[in-house]
Amino acid sequence: MSTDRRGLFRHAARAARDAARAAQGLPADARPLRPPLDDTELERYGRQLVLPEWGEAQQLRLRDASVLVVGAGALGSPVALYLAGAGVGRLGILDGDDVELSNLHRQPLHFTPDVGSAKAHSAATKLRFLNPAVEIAPYQVRLDEDNADLLIEDHDLVVDCSDSFATRYTVNAACCAAGLPLVEGGVAGWTGLVMPIRPGESACYRCAFPQPPPGDAQPTCAQAGVLGPAAGVVGSLQALAAIRILAGLPDPLERAFLQVDLAEATTLRVSATRRSDCPDCAGA
Ligand SMILES: [Zn+2]
Repeated sequence: MSTDRRGLFRHAARAARDAARAAQGLPADARPLRPPLDDTELERYGRQLVLPEWGEAQQLRLRDASVLVVGAGALGSPVALYLAGAGVGRLGILDGDDVELSNLHRQPLHFTPDVGSAKAHSAATKLRFLNPAVEIAPYQVRLDEDNADLLIEDHDLVVDCSDSFATRYTVNAACCAAGLPLVEGGVAGWTGLVMPIRPGESACYRCAFPQPPPGDAQPTCAQAGVLGPAAGVVGSLQALAAIRILAGLPDPLERAFLQVDLAEATTLRVSATRRSDCPDCAGA
């Protein structure tokens, strides 16, 4: 990039920062409460800082945030890449599996030389290359009912990119108990689902789906197949929902989930209502 273009982006980012200060009633030369974005951050995040909905306040909220990504596979790859790229301050990457050759067509965090290595560490290596300013914590472990509470502790938000209903319900229950925002997601074949959850405010995953489907009604990716870009669409939507929550932006899916049918190129927004008898979130 030429020096002139770099200077142009910095100028635009600074203008966005000044506009954000003005919107908060602060003079342009006001001393920020937190360390401001430095020149490298202004350049790295310049294209999102110039968005009308975005500014220094949103970028600082991301920088202060800690997110746990459960699963570093087909959904976790785009989620972690976009959250690290956007500047989330700390990312926990949880996955107990090793990279397999059959993963690579849909899991862009892992490359052919990574086959046989731990997914959590393979993912962490790439994410550190992408954004060295982000603290990456790999957890090579499977999340279950015994360790879920401990693993989600000290995070501001969880993105569930697991591929099993058992893990999905366990993550949902743990986040509801801790009052932690959660973004659920799933993909199989050509269809997927994305659901942002704010315990105590919006329906949780169990409110929307009180019971998992019968064992043979919901095929796995190994049975139904999946194309990499289909998983990429769903993971990208999860990352977008997470960024909205972290930055405090309005979320059109605040009390709904989104069904995506990529065979028909359609989306369906489905309203979801809290259930007073929900065993997971009724007390949240
Ligand atoms: Zn619920």
